[in-house]
Amino acid sequence: MTASPHPLRAYRGSLLHFLGDPGDGDAATDVQFIDDGLLVVERGLVKAADSAHALLPTLPAGTPVVDYRGRLLMPGFIDTHIHYPQTDMIAAYAAQLLDWLDDHAFPAERRFADAAHAAEAASFFLDELMRNGTTTALVFGTVHAASVDAFFAQAETRNLRMIAGKVLMDRNCPEYLRDTPNGGARDSAALIDKWDGRGRLHYAITPRFAVTSSEAQLAAAGRLAATHPGVFIHSHLAENQNEVKWVRELFPRARSYLDVYESFGLLRERAVYAHCLHLDDEDRGRMAHSGAAAAVCATSNLFLGSGLFDFATARQAGMRTGLGTDVGGGTSFSMLRTMAETYKVAQMRGHRLTPWRVFYLATLGGAKALGLDDRIGSFAPGREADFVVLRMDSTPLIARRMKTARTPAEKLFALMMLGDDREIGATYILGERVWNTLPSAAQSI
Ligand SMILES: [Zn+2]
Repeated sequence: MTASPHPLRAYRGSLLHFLGDPGDGDAATDVQFIDDGLLVVERGLVKAADSAHALLPTLPAGTPVVDYRGRLLMPGFIDTHIHYPQTDMIAAYAAQLLDWLDDHAFPAERRFADAAHAAEAASFFLDELMRNGTTTALVFGTVHAASVDAFFAQAETRNLRMIAGKVLMDRNCPEYLRDTPNGGARDSAALIDKWDGRGRLHYAITPRFAVTSSEAQLAAAGRLAATHPGVFIHSHLAENQNEVKWVRELFPRARSYLDVYESFGLLRERAVYAHCLHLDDEDRGRMAHSGAAAAVCATSNLFLGSGLFDFATARQAGMRTGLGTDVGGGTSFSMLRTMAETYKVAQMRGHRLTPWRVFYLATLGGAKALGLDDRIGSFAPGREADFVVLRMDSTPLIARRMKTARTPAEKLFALMMLGDDREIGATYILGERVWNTLPSAAQSI
């Protein structure tokens, strides 16, 4: 390999990114939308993002400029909750959560004891994320340490910023997927030593949910979290009414489902809980105070009939929130599809999300929920250049609709309601293109 003669590369097109939460009003704040913009990347990091008019004259002669005019460049999508071992049973017909786990999820996860199967599935999964413009995800493995080794190995060869962990699960699940409090903690500690902080990878301590871990196992997870304050914690919380009832029976002394996790030291910054549908005000306040985040998983919640996330009360409490696909309970890898369903879920609760806010939640909001906003999620100088190019014309209907949309907000809204994986024209990781459906159009200035 030879070093590139031009460490700078530039990409011209419409730019969208956020400097902070745009708020709930139509007059959004902290949004940067530049119709004719230029994204300048140097050695994998964002150097500048501004109008082409301002930046083009500052580039040294010979700097390659990729012409994406008519397309939209934005930071890569961030999926704050997904299960890679459930890829093969996405869209499985079932009643609700607890039946779906027994009938579909657990049998699929059994196969990940086989390292070769895990490697092949991880490779497909990561390709699918790239095809959908998702550049960072918080990912469940299975109970098998080999599943996480396989996932991280695949993510490392692709240079991706990914977070994953081995599932802790020692009761109320099939014998073939069971670990023990000590064995699970030992495996997790070894995986942390091996992978956390290596390249762009992070480890997440991953108890599946309170139902499938004994008190001894949750205590061991809490001790692990205390000795590794920088690692993530990733689990499910209050997804389904029957699940909530079961947790009440299993932990009769706990004030609430959330209180179970909190009492074992599992509520803090970088703790991410999927769903958070059936909480009370006290729970929301505790989540906000601790810095833990909710991963809102709209397609999954609709598919499994779990419930509707309450954006208004989460907002009032100051809870951090990101968006998750929750594949395979969720029905799409596409964050655009997920954003559309998120909008509809909020509508059903009488809360209107602006298009700005939804795009924020899928990018910088997700990065903030993960505590990674100093690295990813925006085009601020120094951020890692993980970005996507949205085509704006991926179907005849979208191409036609874009012509009648009058404002950027209208375009974004129609794009998220109508778009899917076909909208992703290109995906870049640290400034390197890893997925492309567009004709090459590089030129030097
Ligand atoms: Zn899940």
